[in-house]
Amino acid sequence: MTKAIQVHQTGGPEVLSWDDIEVGEPGPGQVRLRQTAIGLNFIDVYHRTGLYPQPAPFIPGVEGAGVVEAVGPGVDWLRTGDRVAYSGPIGAYAEERLIDADRLVSLPDEVSDEQAAAMLLQGMTAHMLLRRVYPVQAGDTILVHAAAGGVGLIMCQWAAALGAMVIGTVSTDAKAEIAQAHGCAHPIVTSRQDFVAEVDRITGGAKLPVVYDSVGRDTFMGSLDCLAPRGMMVSFGNASGPVDPISPLLLAQKGSLFLTRPTLFHYVATRAELDTAANELFEMVATGKIRVEVKQRFPLKDAAEAHRALEARQTTGSSVLTV
Ligand code: NDP
Repeated sequence: MTKAIQVHQTGGPEVLSWDDIEVGEPGPGQVRLRQTAIGLNFIDVYHRTGLYPQPAPFIPGVEGAGVVEAVGPGVDWLRTGDRVAYSGPIGAYAEERLIDADRLVSLPDEVSDEQAAAMLLQGMTAHMLLRRVYPVQAGDTILVHAAAGGVGLIMCQWAAALGAMVIGTVSTDAKAEIAQAHGCAHPIVTSRQDFVAEVDRITGGAKLPVVYDSVGRDTFMGSLDCLAPRGMMVSFGNASGPVDPISPLLLAQKGSLFLTRPTLFHYVATRAELDTAANELFEMVATGKIRVEVKQRFPLKDAAEAHRALEARQTTGSSVLTV
């Protein structure tokens, strides 16, 4: 028996239940992982509330790191004791879990388990957004919403390293300072500044080639207004709620805009894509271009407290659940 957080019925943070579960032995292609750190991500909230439906009961969480404890038939590249991490599939909020070996990446010595659990999903998301969805060029000015968040702080650093000028939205002055210390040249404090007007002012009316919007409902329309003609609207999250439907005609009226709604799992679907994303991320961290600090730690059994903090916008950067 091992301990895990389960959701028996979707709802508020109180539905996260600390249960005994049976993990069992790994089947063909699987390993059993003893987890040492688990990533906290906003997608965990969407699963818990039912915005992204899952058959219940389920163990939430999509990211973790730890040590291989048992190897199933047909897995020839991993051994007991190897340090690994993963981003997806769901089932991370547990002391131990079974997982398909082809979703695991080996951890280099210079990346700790805790760092890996804190950054793999958020960092590979930053890679997807900045290197593949809209490949950022030196000299680009870009807008990153929730710039002091988990994905946000990694994006600010990565984009700055690529030579871009980052404009970022945050809700407080304290978060503005953190974003600025991580490469965000122009933090906009949304509690007292209008981000559309600020983008217009900062760019001298030229506006932007790309907006990365993870906030969703509250910012979507404003984000479209920040784009130059033929700009790319990248809607990749719903922290404030899902975006209402729009007519494609709106994209024409706003300047022949492009709109995409990417999901990481479609960008790391093959082993080659997963390895490229993870290796580029590890390289950025190893060379000091991206610093990943764990800003909040919560014991796994207190996952409800972690969710409350995340939803109340009290966290900055990355958070982990400790085992
Ligand atoms: P964050 O650490 O960024 O936390 C969310 C932040 O969103 C908050 O800190 C807050 O920052 C901002 N926010 C704005 N409005 C609200 C609101 N009404 N309620 C709560 N927060 C709000 O989380 P993550 O780094 O884990 O994820 C960032 C986003 O990226 C999420 O939307 C997530 O779903 C998305 N994502 C998408 C992926 C994909 O594949 N498409 C993969 C990974 C993440 P502030 O107070 O400064 O406004």
